[in-house]
Amino acid sequence: MAADPLGWIDAESAAWSQRGLARRLAPHGTAIPGRQERDGRMLVNFGSNDYLGLAADPRVIAAAVRTAELQGWGAGASPLVTGWSNAHQSLSADLAQFEQTEAVTLFPSGFAANLGTITALVGPGDAVYADRLNHACLIDGARLAGARLRVYPHNDVSRLDTILQRDRGRFRRSLIATDGVFSMDGDLAPLADLADLADRFEAMLLVDEAHGTGVFGPDGRGSAAACGVAERVSIRVGTLSKALGSVGGFVAGSQRLIDWLINRARPLIYSTALPPPAAAAASQALAIAQAEPWRRERLHAMSARLRQVLTTSGFDVGASAGPIVPVLIGPPQQTLQLAERLRNRGFLVPAIRPPTVPEGTARLRIGLSAAHHDDDVSGLIDALTGS
Ligand SMILES: *Cc1c(COP(=O)(O)O)cnc(C)c1O
Repeated sequence: MAADPLGWIDAESAAWSQRGLARRLAPHGTAIPGRQERDGRMLVNFGSNDYLGLAADPRVIAAAVRTAELQGWGAGASPLVTGWSNAHQSLSADLAQFEQTEAVTLFPSGFAANLGTITALVGPGDAVYADRLNHACLIDGARLAGARLRVYPHNDVSRLDTILQRDRGRFRRSLIATDGVFSMDGDLAPLADLADLADRFEAMLLVDEAHGTGVFGPDGRGSAAACGVAERVSIRVGTLSKALGSVGGFVAGSQRLIDWLINRARPLIYSTALPPPAAAAASQALAIAQAEPWRRERLHAMSARLRQVLTTSGFDVGASAGPIVPVLIGPPQQTLQLAERLRNRGFLVPAIRPPTVPEGTARLRIGLSAAHHDDDVSGLIDALTGS
């Protein structure tokens, strides 16, 4: 028999499963705000990033439908060829106004936005300073760029200060890159301190606002705005796929930065533009997010209550500050069992395991949405505390 060139996968994946790390895709059926059907049962969905409950909002759906009828579903080409429609143009303008920056450009996803931006800004001979808990796409961007990657302990500003001092004069350009809100811990980066370091060491500062946009800060303008340093963060990356309920990534900044990215960011140049209906849906969601601040307020009130009750009951929710509430468990198998128990009680809460989070820190990741009812949260608390 011929050798099987993919045979090595069997042994590797057996070892992976052995450690409780195997994953699989599980399809869901009907999805309404805050709920999702699984195997014929409607579950309360605490596993999404649809923070404002806009992904299935009828107004968002209607905007997508209208645009699909006028422009088709697919963009048909990359943005610089013929894929850039007036839906993309007006979304960019809306986002620039919302972000209070000169310009915005769009990417196929938040992942692509970070990858494309970092590789357009740094290369060999440069350095990227990254928080240990940064999202994978920031790390991958630095690696792909061929820049020296310096990882500092989570939110440890004084350690970063030390590293930057040691590196002084060694690199052509420096970029500090951080999540504004950490995706698996829900805590905020110390952005005012990072902005100070960026100034002192003449480094560029990139903040990934994937979980900040629409949720944190005045008018939901993000974690940098919440820390009062929005104008000092010269590269703000965001996604349309979380609070804005659509798909796609964006970068907000000066016209100079955006023009550079349009010319140099490869995932923007060599990938098909977002479907115009996705852009129109995001514009509509952005308008709703601004017109209905109760969504954001409700989200923060619910998550404060959840955190308080869980902490009182002895759970470790870390330094979470918004709608992402982690419940630290530790061993992957135990985390999976707890998730299974919650699911049997009607609550969908994902078990997050390594390598998504560091070894020994497997957790439940509760994601709240403005679409959740108070009873949903009470029910989850009862299920977790065993009452
Ligand atoms: C989800 C996420 C991304 C990726 O955004 P997509 O639009 O889903 O590709 C990037 N950064 C962080 C911190 C995220 O949580």
